[in-house]
Amino acid sequence: MLPVVQLKGVTHAYLGDREASLAVEDLNLNVEQGEFVSLVGPSGCGKTTLLSIIAGLLQPSQGEVFVNGEPIMGPSPEVGYMLQQDYLFPWRSILDNAILGLELTGNLTEESRKRTLELLREMGLEGKEHAFPNQLSGGMRQRVALVRTLATNPGLLLLDEPFSALDYQIKLQLEDLVSETLRSRGTTAILVTHDLSEAIAVSSSVILLQRNPGKIRKVFSVPEQIRSAPPLFARDQPGFSELFHEIWKEMEIAGRES
Ligand code: ADP
Ligand code: MG
Repeated sequence: MLPVVQLKGVTHAYLGDREASLAVEDLNLNVEQGEFVSLVGPSGCGKTTLLSIIAGLLQPSQGEVFVNGEPIMGPSPEVGYMLQQDYLFPWRSILDNAILGLELTGNLTEESRKRTLELLREMGLEGKEHAFPNQLSGGMRQRVALVRTLATNPGLLLLDEPFSALDYQIKLQLEDLVSETLRSRGTTAILVTHDLSEAIAVSSSVILLQRNPGKIRKVFSVPEQIRSAPPLFARDQPGFSELFHEIWKEMEIAGRES
């Protein structure tokens, strides 16, 4: 089967007034159907740049990007992208924000609206459907943005630190919920996170990037017993802390070199 995402020799430089800065250089990556991949690495190593390229929001300076075998020409309903900030519309209710993607893609039906309400409930937002974003906490708004991204049922989901602003307990619950939702739908996902234990707990492989310029340092495969456990329990599986320390050590070495 074709990989869902293929990056071939992707290089991106941001052009400033006086200089160009190389954000990512010669990146090659395949993500297979149903895989859940995490990107970790220091701030500035190109994680957000990479997601924006895969989302079709940013044209790389060099290289090729394919989603489901097709070259990327721009944003597509097949690809859901959740940004670091929630970008909810303040004048729309929570439900109206959550169904926005369905509306824009012409997929709003009684059925899809019901499924969205269900998702809001699962995310602990029951009773908030008719509230407005400024009446919700940051963590709640982030969950609304997550529902909005999941509501259109994209085949490929790109998540840029979706859990980083949340309280620890809610974060663990959401990791479980998202990972279970994606697993049952067979969604392919790429998650950016600075939380290494989260990366190991939710994904099938962890990709460590290094900076100046952004490159893949090493790819770590998550063992089956950790991968198949729900994220909350994955942390207790044998091999978890060994893998954590292995990646941690590599991050430290990379940090000293950059
Ligand atoms: P990360 O998400 O891993 O923190 P980014 O992809 O945001 O990294 O950034 C990678 C590099 O590109 C950094 O050096 C950053 O300063 C630079 N960069 C990111 N966005 C822009 C931009 N819009 N204009 C200029 N430089 C940028
Ligand atoms: Mg970023």
